[in-house]
Amino acid sequence: MQVRITVPFPYEAPVSQSLFDRASAVTPGGVNSPVRAFRAVGGTPRFMVSGTGPYLTDADGREYVDLVCSWGPMILGHSHPEVIAAVQEAVARGTSFGTPGAGEVELAEEIVARIEPVEQVRLVSSGTEATMSAIRLARGFTGRPKVIKFAGCYHGHVDALLAAAGSGVATLGLPDTPGVTGAQAGDTIVLPYNDLEAVRAAFAAHPGEIACVITEAAPGNMGVVPPLPGFNQGLKDLCAGNGALYISDEVMTGFRVSKAGWYGIDGVRPDLMTFGKVMGGGFPAAAFGGRTDVMAHLAPAGPVYQAGTLSGNPIATAAGVAQLRLLDDAAYEKVDAVSAEVRGQVTAALAKEGVAHRVQTAGNMFTVFFTDAEVTDYDAAKAQESFRFTAFFHSMLAQGVYLPPSAFESWFVSTAHDTAAGERIAAALPAAARAAAAATA
Ligand code: PLP
Repeated sequence: MQVRITVPFPYEAPVSQSLFDRASAVTPGGVNSPVRAFRAVGGTPRFMVSGTGPYLTDADGREYVDLVCSWGPMILGHSHPEVIAAVQEAVARGTSFGTPGAGEVELAEEIVARIEPVEQVRLVSSGTEATMSAIRLARGFTGRPKVIKFAGCYHGHVDALLAAAGSGVATLGLPDTPGVTGAQAGDTIVLPYNDLEAVRAAFAAHPGEIACVITEAAPGNMGVVPPLPGFNQGLKDLCAGNGALYISDEVMTGFRVSKAGWYGIDGVRPDLMTFGKVMGGGFPAAAFGGRTDVMAHLAPAGPVYQAGTLSGNPIATAAGVAQLRLLDDAAYEKVDAVSAEVRGQVTAALAKEGVAHRVQTAGNMFTVFFTDAEVTDYDAAKAQESFRFTAFFHSMLAQGVYLPPSAFESWFVSTAHDTAAGERIAAALPAAARAAAAATA
């Protein structure tokens, strides 16, 4: 196995620590997105300086096998030569024009060609913008105020959607967030995930008031909790029967779990869909799209306002187009195979040490829950022994494997994860499993 660690692995990370100290002086909590701060697991967040293939290198010169992949986008690994070349070519032509550009058309055409329910698409810069805009559009289209969302699903930091959200909200144990007023959250109905009866009851209790149901196509933000068979179809049918729109949030699953995302796996046809992460090739590009008759309500075609100075930015669209064009069937087969291999390695190591765990998948996304009970909703996710994850995480980190710093997140792999990366993970797992077994609450 090729040895790529340039500095031995003492656990301290002095350069990262000094950057974190500086960052903490000028940035709240020292980070620009909460989960990066390691609050759930403790210790010094690693400040990364470069990425190549399946590896990240931190400011202390240590290399890690990356099982976060920028929270999903880096499905081809870091610094893929063809994506980098497309970006360099785009940069050389200028960085933003504030006019329409060919790259936007190409990216929109790629999305529409891959995902059949998306007849028209609008580009934005973040997943948060995509879900916020989709909800506004659903309300504008239906003339109704209320939105159903599910506990543990995260749709970005949209005011109305932060109630009982997953991801960083789950990681930090925030029940709600100050700054969201009763008026902003008052039209949000939060229901338990995978509970169709609750959705039926909500429609019955609020006739003619519900604009849309928004759900993660297959949730990854309370850890990976796939929809039970028939759940998404049931949502779609209840929406159709009650004049509401079914919005499938594929910011995480879109272009990651198959060419057509989770829609490519379950085939349930949403009215609107949201995307981000993979479609930007590591740059800020996101989108929402769906039925033409609904999208026609969006300005300037229709009255529902939505806009963005950097929407469809030429660098981001060039990166996105290059990445999507490389994501053929063979690429997804590779990512699926890597995912299966890592899952197998983790489960074998934990089983050997007698650690109760359960690996849940949504395509190639997966989470290792430290419980042996099936996790079908947020309450079940929270019931895991997350203190074991903390011990497991730090052992892996110390041995050069970078996991999501929270027990409530999906792990992500890429086409670049090769045999050498797999061997590095395998070598780290026995000690990490022992640490998880020995951990106490
Ligand atoms: N929707 C889902 C399902 C997500 O996983 C995320 C981010 O993780 C978002 C929306 C928000 O996307 P962004 O962080 O780009 O605003």
